Formats: sequence, C-alpha cells, structure tokens
Amino acid sequence: MDEKLPFLLTLQEYEQRRNRIDLRAPEQRRLQLEEQSHELREGLAQARQELLRGQRQITGAERELEEREEELRQCLGQQALSKKPEAFQALGAKIAQLREKISQSEDSILQELEAQEEKKRDFARLEEETLERIASLEKEIMAQEALLAESEEALRVLEEKIKTFRESIVDAECLSLYDQVRARGVGFPWIVAVAEHRCQGCHIRLSPEQEVFFHQNPHSYSFCEQCGRLLHRPSSRAGTEDGEVEADSA
Ligand SMILES: [Zn+2]
Repeated sequence: MDEKLPFLLTLQEYEQRRNRIDLRAPEQRRLQLEEQSHELREGLAQARQELLRGQRQITGAERELEEREEELRQCLGQQALSKKPEAFQALGAKIAQLREKISQSEDSILQELEAQEEKKRDFARLEEETLERIASLEKEIMAQEALLAESEEALRVLEEKIKTFRESIVDAECLSLYDQVRARGVGFPWIVAVAEHRCQGCHIRLSPEQEVFFHQNPHSYSFCEQCGRLLHRPSSRAGTEDGEVEADSA
C-alpha cells in the first residue's frame, strides 16, 4: 500500500468530523428563543400598561363625579338662599340636570369597575402563563448555550488534533498532495475509493487506462480523470478510525 494513503485518509476523516460540527444551528436557535422570550415580556408589559390605563380612566371619572357632587351641593345651597322664584326655578332645573348626570356617572363607573376587575383577573392569568413560558424558554436557552459550548470545545479539540496530526506527517510530499487535492474545490470528500469501477466522488466510470493502473498497482493512488479527486482502492482504507464517508458539496 502506498504509505501516504492512511495519513491522507485519517486527515480527511478529522476534517470531515470538524466540518460536521454545527455551531450555527444552536446559535440561531438560541437567538430565536431569546427573541420569543423578549416578545413575551413586551406583551406582558403592554398588558400591564393597558390595565393601568383602565385604572387611571376610572380614577378620572371618579374625580369628575366628585366635582359634580360638589357643584350639586353648591346649587342646593344657592337654591335655599334664593329669594326670587325665577332664580329658584333656574337652579332647580340645573340641580335636576346635575342629579341626572351624577346618576349616569355612577352607573358607568360601576360598570367600569366591574370590567376592570375582570381585566385584572385576565391579566393575572396572562402574567402567570407568560412567566411560566419565559422560565421554560430560559431553560431552553441555557441548554442551547451548553450545546454551543460543547460544540465549540469539540471543534477546538479537532482543530488541535488536525494541527498535531499534520505536524506528525514527516512526508512533506504527502501533505502537499493532500492540500493540493483539497484545494481543487471538488467538494467533500476529496479522497475517495473506487467501487464497481467508478469514482465514488463523481460516480463516473474509470477509463480503461486507470483500470489497468489499479490492476497493476492495487495499493497505489491516482486522480479521477473526471473530477480530479484522489482515487484509491478500498482496501487501503484500513487503519482509519471511521469507515463512513459521505459526499457533500462543502
Ligand atoms: Zn471522480
């Protein structure tokens, strides 16, 4: 077997494992969860404002009612002191009007108070549900953060492994061969086995010349004439840690 192959394949395995580590998904999920949590808080704050607005309206109406009652008292006082019958009558009409208005205000305040009580109950329910939901989102956010930290650590370990492994390869030609094939931009994996007379990267049949080459040099490697990947016979994969290699467009 060509002595370069096990090194090349091992290096490729490490890179593949590194490429599979997904930092973006947990990060995006975390942002999404934070956004949800933020929206829930905003909604709750708005509902609280709405409740306070209702309370302020009632307070305003109550103040207005008090003013009318005061006005009524004054009119009644004036009427008691009035000497002219016209003035007495005019005040009488005003008093009747004020009494009518006061009675209407009292009714509407009562209604508003009842409605406000219901709003308060609704808000309490909403607050409880929202806070529960936020707490569960926070838990999920923490889980995503842990996952992200874990992935970052795995990435760091693999980067280190790749670096150490590259440094351990004394054959400079071997490394340059690897980097050269990798730089061709053919998509992962760039070192593939021949199976059923086909390149397992582009799945195109080997030329008769290549068939002859592999027949004569079963443990060597060659380049795919179609896609440029480095080709080898499957047996030379022995010695790598992970047998499974999936093609992707990375
Ligand atoms: Zn190919």
